[in-house]
Amino acid sequence: MSNSKKSSPNADWDPTQFSVAPQEGKTRFHDLDLRPELMRGIAALGFEYCSPIQAQILPHTLQGHDAIGKAQTGTGKTAAFLITVFNDLLSHDPGSERFLAEPRAVIIAPTRELVMQIAADAKELGAYTGLNTVTLIGGADYQKQLNKVNAKVTDIVVATPGRLIDFMQRQDLFLDRVETLVLDEADRMLDMGFIPQVKRIVRATPHKEDRQTLLFSATFTQDIINLAAQWTYEPVKIEIEPERVATATVDQRVYLVASHERLKVLLNVLRSDEAVSTIVFANRRDQVRNLHEKLRRAGISCGILSGEVTQAKRTKTLQDFKDGRISVLVATDVAGRGIHVDGVSHVVNYNLPEDPEDYVHRIGRTGRAGASGVSISFASEDDAFLLPDIEALLGERLKCVSPPPELMA
Ligand code: AMP
Repeated sequence: MSNSKKSSPNADWDPTQFSVAPQEGKTRFHDLDLRPELMRGIAALGFEYCSPIQAQILPHTLQGHDAIGKAQTGTGKTAAFLITVFNDLLSHDPGSERFLAEPRAVIIAPTRELVMQIAADAKELGAYTGLNTVTLIGGADYQKQLNKVNAKVTDIVVATPGRLIDFMQRQDLFLDRVETLVLDEADRMLDMGFIPQVKRIVRATPHKEDRQTLLFSATFTQDIINLAAQWTYEPVKIEIEPERVATATVDQRVYLVASHERLKVLLNVLRSDEAVSTIVFANRRDQVRNLHEKLRRAGISCGILSGEVTQAKRTKTLQDFKDGRISVLVATDVAGRGIHVDGVSHVVNYNLPEDPEDYVHRIGRTGRAGASGVSISFASEDDAFLLPDIEALLGERLKCVSPPPELMA
């Protein structure tokens, strides 16, 4: 990037082209007075209106207040804290004295996958901000990560607690200039025994009155409330309730099929007249990729939603699905949680999820807004054993039957 471009990196972008009509009861990103470099990233992602947690938390956090948010994956919490961090860093001049290895914002999360997901979201959302984000995770080459830290001034660090402590111990990273600290999935960090490490990290940052702290957790147990009280200063508290077990409007069918017969049954389901718009879930990214490829080869127009696909592409795919340009989506659980589309007629579980909560999330993609929906789950020799846990969560027995003959043809 040339110097002249760097001084106005967004000179070629016309903000007026990103227009979103005001809508009763909804907050637009336009209403939040965000920096144009950030608005450009939001526009590129195709986000139009704030999700509920964003609409509730951003007016406070953008003013610099601390916040604790009860929210699960799929609510848009990642963008909520990333927008806060980016806008804050862009709005405050860090002064001319910047040193390597002194990040202005630190985001910690319990797992490598989550850290990588946050970093990927940051890359897209912050694509036009000029801010530098570095990812530090265990199980990957330390030296390579150190080289990144030493290559140029680091603005944001996204890390798992253990690897961040390694960097601090070896004096390869210093947290005394941190302006914003984000603790994501605090309850999982607690469950995984990371709290002593997180405490050390928090202690290495400026005092809580001198930094902004955002803490997110899917649950607010007493332990979490106590930690939040220690780490945050006069926080606003936002709670987004998890979705209900929405089984009343979903006709749940479980088909006992051999795993090698699943594709045939799926194709017959998708070709039936009643499957107007369908989301097919599989457990792993590679399964989603393979399935998508097989469906496409079978002439089904379908899109893919998984962590392997950039968010911008996912937003486009989701829009195509909403607008009816494609009628089938193949998704992983994580990507599928962001799908809030009314009028999905069918959900197919190509394999049963290992976490029963995911089953509830999956089938909750249909039967929305008072409409009725159908969920079809394949139970095969390798995953039928997962059914009892799902039934326990639902509090009901699921009737397992052989697929009707027309689906076996
Ligand atoms: P998260 O809860 O952070 O895992 O986000 C769930 C999904 O929703 C992700 O795919 C986000 O990119 C997407 N998302 C977040 N905020 C918005 C928004 N305001 N509009 C549309 N999609 C969003």
